[in-house]
Amino acid sequence: MSASTPATPKSPVSFLPFARPAIDEETIAGVAEVLRSGWITSGPQVKAFEAKLSEYAGGRPVRAFNSGTGTMEIALRIAGVGPGHEVITTPLSWVATANVVLEVGARPVFVDIDPVTRNLDPDRIEAAITSATRAIIPVDLAGLPVDRDRLYAIAKRHQLRVIEDAAQSFGSSWQGRRIGAFGDFVSFSFHANKNITTAEGGCLVLNDEREAGLAEQYRLQGVVRTGYDGMEVDLVGGKFNLTDVAARIGLGQLPHLDLVTARRRELARAYLEAFDTPLVRDLGLRLPVADFANSNWHMFQIVLPEERLTIRRAEVMARMHAAGIGTGVHYPAMHLFAVYRRLGWQEGAFPHAEYAGRNILTLPLFPALTRADVARVVTTLLEILAAHQKQKV
Ligand SMILES: *Cc1c(COP(=O)(O)O)cnc(C)c1O
Repeated sequence: MSASTPATPKSPVSFLPFARPAIDEETIAGVAEVLRSGWITSGPQVKAFEAKLSEYAGGRPVRAFNSGTGTMEIALRIAGVGPGHEVITTPLSWVATANVVLEVGARPVFVDIDPVTRNLDPDRIEAAITSATRAIIPVDLAGLPVDRDRLYAIAKRHQLRVIEDAAQSFGSSWQGRRIGAFGDFVSFSFHANKNITTAEGGCLVLNDEREAGLAEQYRLQGVVRTGYDGMEVDLVGGKFNLTDVAARIGLGQLPHLDLVTARRRELARAYLEAFDTPLVRDLGLRLPVADFANSNWHMFQIVLPEERLTIRRAEVMARMHAAGIGTGVHYPAMHLFAVYRRLGWQEGAFPHAEYAGRNILTLPLFPALTRADVARVVTTLLEILAAHQKQKV
């Protein structure tokens, strides 16, 4: 380079989002084919996707939907949950988990989380059961499964239905069995940020063909067709069907599942190694459970030690953003949203969920992330925390 050449600016380090979908070229070509085929809404691609999902779920019936929210609402309807009924769930989830309970006219009843797993604490479920309780909606936050043995023992003892909100745990397992391959209703989401995506979409694993038939009815206006021209409507359904365009994306995603899960586990391991420092121990920064057998590591989340920091989470996020690193909040404790406060839930009711809700932070994790990216995220974060420590009293 000659002396007269102006110095080229250093290429800026690219911004790291906290999640990024990966769609391969074969899938993009497949979607184009569907678009040209003359049939773009629910059709052969949805049927093929459902068949693959059923295979995944050990042969159980599976029906595809246009969201993982709709799947749960419909599971509640099939279970006969409605006005006058209560459904037990966690306050630390995407608000869809409790909104669907309100949608069918029932009352969500929250119980606090276990601060280690960040999931619904099985020890607290039974105290919340009343004569009005009909179901439990457990959530596998970040892909770490709720203890299915304890959950189903409680459900059986009290004759409750379970709608597993497994939106984040496609690819996770419980003691060697895939989530979805056993249990009662299991609801998955294929939202753009989930491990496997259809852009928007979801599916419901059901117990038998009768339930699957009801799911089809609720999914599309309650309609049952027979022969060439027969049509009957004997229940009120909605509009929850998946398109063939979306199903084709899902079909292209499924073959990558095992690699995606393995890669996420590897990156989570790298995060935990990088976080193994004296500062982290001294601050009491809370790391996720080091589970590499069950969890699909849908997210890598830390919980900031608010009592040891002079800055709050929003400021940490702003500083990470300024350093080119995206972070997320999953989630604020939902019983404190106005809709739920109006139903009587108050601050102080669930201290563990509230603490997590104020301090939980999702760090970048997706298959294309590199170990160098992980190192950069951890170094940047620890520099911010080190500069804003409150001295121990
Ligand atoms: C994504 C998600 C949902 C909702 O899924 P959609 O497909 O976006 O409707 C529900 N619960 C949890 C825990 C989720 O992460």
